[in-house]
Amino acid sequence: MSSKDTCPLCGGTKKSGTTTFTVDGKETLVVIRNVPAIICSLCGNEWLSDEVAANVENIVDEAKNKKHLFEVTQYSEVA
Ligand SMILES: [Zn+2]
Repeated sequence: MSSKDTCPLCGGTKKSGTTTFTVDGKETLVVIRNVPAIICSLCGNEWLSDEVAANVENIVDEAKNKKHLFEVTQYSEVA
């Protein structure tokens, strides 16, 4: 097994799946559902790819611009 598939925290196995990502901004709490992530099957730690992290950042910015107190959205690929 390559170290790429092993959790650096607990030695468990990393698997791809989806997670709910929550960002607590100053004015807006943003919840993004169905974010693709690599999740440790043992300790539950999550990793996002650079591409997914960049998309999440865009989604958070967009949600904050709406000036709502609370925004729940689905993850989607943004161009
Ligand atoms: Zn782990």
